[in-house]
Amino acid sequence: ILVQEYASLGTPYLAEVPATPLRTEAGLVHLNTALATEVGLNTEELGSTQGIDVLSGNTPFPGYQSRASVYCGHQFGQFVPQLGDGRALLIAEVRKGKQYRQMQLKGAGPTPYSRHADGRAVLRSSIREYLASEAMHALGIPTTRALSLTASADPVFRETTETAAIVCRVSESFLRFGHVEFFCYTNQLQALRNLLTWHIEQHHPEIDLGDTEASFHAGLLQWLSIVVARTARMVAQWQAVGFCHGVMNTDNMSLLGLTIDYGPYGFIDGFDIDHICNHSDHQGRYSYRNQPRIAHWNLYALAQALSPLIPDSKETLQNLLDSFADVFHAEHSALFARKLGLPNEQGDAVDSLIENTLKFMHEHSLDFTRFFRSISALNPSATHEENFASWQQSAFFPLALGDEAQVNNAKLWLKQWREALNPQNLDILAWQKKLDQTNPAFVLRNHLLQNAIELAQRGEFAEVNRLFTALSDPYNAAQLPNEYTAQPPDWAKSLVLSCSS
Ligand code: AMP
Ligand code: MG
Ligand code: MG
Repeated sequence: ILVQEYASLGTPYLAEVPATPLRTEAGLVHLNTALATEVGLNTEELGSTQGIDVLSGNTPFPGYQSRASVYCGHQFGQFVPQLGDGRALLIAEVRKGKQYRQMQLKGAGPTPYSRHADGRAVLRSSIREYLASEAMHALGIPTTRALSLTASADPVFRETTETAAIVCRVSESFLRFGHVEFFCYTNQLQALRNLLTWHIEQHHPEIDLGDTEASFHAGLLQWLSIVVARTARMVAQWQAVGFCHGVMNTDNMSLLGLTIDYGPYGFIDGFDIDHICNHSDHQGRYSYRNQPRIAHWNLYALAQALSPLIPDSKETLQNLLDSFADVFHAEHSALFARKLGLPNEQGDAVDSLIENTLKFMHEHSLDFTRFFRSISALNPSATHEENFASWQQSAFFPLALGDEAQVNNAKLWLKQWREALNPQNLDILAWQKKLDQTNPAFVLRNHLLQNAIELAQRGEFAEVNRLFTALSDPYNAAQLPNEYTAQPPDWAKSLVLSCSS
């Protein structure tokens, strides 16, 4: 079960830091009761005054001394020699049977790694992280989770004065590529080796590190190939829901291949393959199109930091990193093939339809989520003219009928789609049902978040609750309010998100 408590690794990885209590009493905005139960915590206790004290950093988790970890990383391609949990605190390690989880408070005050920043998080960014991590989870995408959101009237100074909030997040591990980089670049190779040994024994019991140098090297390579594959699959899953992370620095990349650190992320509305969700990303380094390439680049940085532990491994590491492209491609094709309702998940015909579909969507800025959701309104056995007619009946119809070029291209696309499908003895109802369980009717769009945030800033939290309910069951259109599935309003296009949080 638990090899050894992470906290007991102590120096040089972790510094003991108590949370800094908020001056104004924090209130519970939301408690994720399903997750609480899943990790073995009592929801009534968590929701009590004492529970809220723990979740807002007012008192420690019983029997645990909170800690912050040190890491470094490449931010926008530049090496930054020291980062760390500047505003995240590990407050507990919890076990339920074989299941092991760590709990972190984000925004509970400064740590030795805060670098002149305040260690706080504002309500706006906390709502965004809280809801997004659960939305990703409900979409089946590996992610850290969110257990609670607490908020207080304490002022926090960003571009304007905002108020403080704290997310309690939960994960098997919060280790990042940057943890490995830190112990490599500070030349603490024995410490790096011990950390990786702990991590692999804890999270990859199938890997046998043995007791010889050779077996350790082989184990490390086996582990790295798992990180490469998980990262490739995670990013393929992002692409398949139109998710942009926004800040794919190596310190925001999880060693377990989880989506972590939700900042200026965004689900794309009108599709633009070069979409940049982070206003501070002037070059578009982390654009939608670039995400796979950047994940690969980040894995290079990870491998580079591991290489001192594996002598003469240059070629082996290179081959291992090369596997990224194959894993990504296979996963990407399979996911989009399923989204398009194709019977085959691989092959040139599948790939060219995927490419043409994205081109068509890009050319006409079609809404990513509504486009895919509307495919279940089509009938693979019908002609493209018949399909065009039934498509218009869909509540998710993504086209603008007044646009002649768009309508013509749509008909061309319908033809190609049908040719790739080549339907034989298809059970149409089962096919449609499967598509509706593949393509969500709802994603956490920026303008919906913005609306919930503005209400929350006025003390009205009902909309946060309502979004939470919707995102928990994103395939079930019947439970969703119309405005959550509708075409986004024009003002959604002008929303600007930066790193400020
Ligand atoms: P991010 O860009 O959010 O991934 O953060 C990069 C680094 O800055 C991490 O080491 C964070 O812990 C740290 N950081 C970001 N915001 C704050 C803050 N308000 N107080 C302290 N550290 C912060
Ligand atoms: Mg970060
Ligand atoms: Mg952050």
